[in-house]
Amino acid sequence: MKELILVLTGAGISAESGVPTFRGEGGLWKQFKPEELATPQAFFKNPKLVWEWYDWRRQIISKAEPNEAHLLLAELERRLENFFIITQNVDGLHQKAGSKKVIELHGNIWRVKCTNCKEEYELYEVPLKEIPPKCKYCGGLLRPAVVWFGESLPEKALSESFALAKNCKLFLVIGTSGVVYPAGYLPFLAKQHGAKIVEINPESTPISKIADVVIREKASKGLRLFEKML
Ligand code: NAD
Ligand code: ZN
Repeated sequence: MKELILVLTGAGISAESGVPTFRGEGGLWKQFKPEELATPQAFFKNPKLVWEWYDWRRQIISKAEPNEAHLLLAELERRLENFFIITQNVDGLHQKAGSKKVIELHGNIWRVKCTNCKEEYELYEVPLKEIPPKCKYCGGLLRPAVVWFGESLPEKALSESFALAKNCKLFLVIGTSGVVYPAGYLPFLAKQHGAKIVEINPESTPISKIADVVIREKASKGLRLFEKML
């Protein structure tokens, strides 16, 4: 078995596909900060407002195509068999680029969950005809099946991610501010277990100080440089 290479991606990898990040410019919608909308409290206070924001994001994502960085990662997976992606993104662009071994830590924007009967299913309608949308089984209020600030992560995805982080030889961190936990902890766990850390991000993050190699570039250019190092 070849040595395990692990990749953690954040909103920055999809920036070149035109999907706004949460932190940094271009992430604002109607002057609301994502931190004020991506919470259970905000949702139950005003589901219509939160769904309008999700509908806006779903429209952007529906038009977005994977960029060179997503495609290069898909190609690396085909070439290096022991290769996994853990993503904090909810846009599904890794899968659209052809990556198969992807762990979604924060869910997927195309899935919905009923707040009443708890059924979860895919809903691709974009833009939504009715806001907030209602459950097709019981008519209850639907929510996006994503992880909001203050909520716990899907258990299986989290335990798999911890196991991978502890066992990888190389951990590549792309386009994440590293401030959302526990995802932001994974590079530290990998480092403690002896992995080499490579960061691709145009800006400095808390992960930069433990990185063995820092590539201060956008995801696509950074990955082209990384490929040459392999
Ligand atoms: P973040 O918004 O906190 O940070 C984005 C990071 O990407 C920053 O460090 C920034 O310097 C970097 N960046 C910006 N442009 C880049 C580029 N072209 N190439 C490489 N890096 C670039 O994002 P986060 O760390 O992923 O955490 C925010 C949370 O927001 C996550 O939980 C995620 O689920 C969610 N989110 C997802 C999407 C998406 O699915 N595309 C978009 C926005 C937010
Ligand atoms: Zn229901």
